[in-house]
Amino acid sequence: MSDPILATVCEIPALRKLVTSRRQQGATIGFVPTMGALHAGHTSLIEAARVDCDFVVVSIFVNPTQFGPDEDFEKYPRILEQDLAKCAGAGADLVWTPDTSIMYPDGFSTHVTVKALSRILEGATRTNHFQGVTTVVTKLLLSCLPDIAYFGAKDFQQQAIIRRMCLDLNIPVEIKTCPIIRDTDGLALSSRNAYLSVEERESGLSLSRALRLAEEKIAAGETDLEQIKADMHELLHATPLLKLDYATIADPTTLEDISTVQPEMVALIAAWVGATRLIDNCQLVPASAENS
Ligand code: AMP
Repeated sequence: MSDPILATVCEIPALRKLVTSRRQQGATIGFVPTMGALHAGHTSLIEAARVDCDFVVVSIFVNPTQFGPDEDFEKYPRILEQDLAKCAGAGADLVWTPDTSIMYPDGFSTHVTVKALSRILEGATRTNHFQGVTTVVTKLLLSCLPDIAYFGAKDFQQQAIIRRMCLDLNIPVEIKTCPIIRDTDGLALSSRNAYLSVEERESGLSLSRALRLAEEKIAAGETDLEQIKADMHELLHATPLLKLDYATIADPTTLEDISTVQPEMVALIAAWVGATRLIDNCQLVPASAENS
């Protein structure tokens, strides 16, 4: 069987021309923004777009402005040929690979900030990270103008911020959040997992274990959220090589920490394992809602 046909573009006018021509033919446009080093988490988004939409665009751009000065921008994996093969295999029609001079032309001085949501959790230690994300995602959405854009629940705070931003700025794009894809051992797939040694990877499993603990306690009817948070902390603090940043239970829209059970909740964890920062989360369903 021959490979599916996959077009690639770099310049924004070329992207717009292709998208406009497909739209004029009546096609719905799906868009999956990525930073490359694609894995099954990314391809699940492309596959979801393939199901919903007639024309699927994937962007690959390692966005410098969302990395802090001490973060891994330089060493972030860049494997374009392999990524293009994965895009084709998952059913993408077009891959857009803008370069930095296109996204950040000389004299660039405009930023998009979603204030409150960007200061907490990841934003508490990663100053300017979400401003980098929201600025680039605004530019990506305005360049592609899709009907639907796909994001992973893996970056839960990111998708919440992007939803808020699209509402606030009346950006006419539907945001869909797709489930977290995990390895068989429970570790959420991430391009950064490639940095982990065997021992670090074993320690990294504590994130999904702590989330499962919270999930099980809530499903069993536990209503003391502070106790559940303490149990998560205990498990994580007992893990070798792991330095906990936060483990909390929050409202999925405001991301504010909560102490009493509500119909929709999310448990969120961030931790360093060696030099690698891992994040993970899961939605919690109270026993009363499960039984209804
Ligand atoms: P990134 O390339 O890290 O910017 O991620 C691009 C998109 O893939 C984001 O919307 C991520 O949330 C999503 N993504 C990353 N890892 C996973 C995963 N394990 N499961 C589902 N989506 C993911």
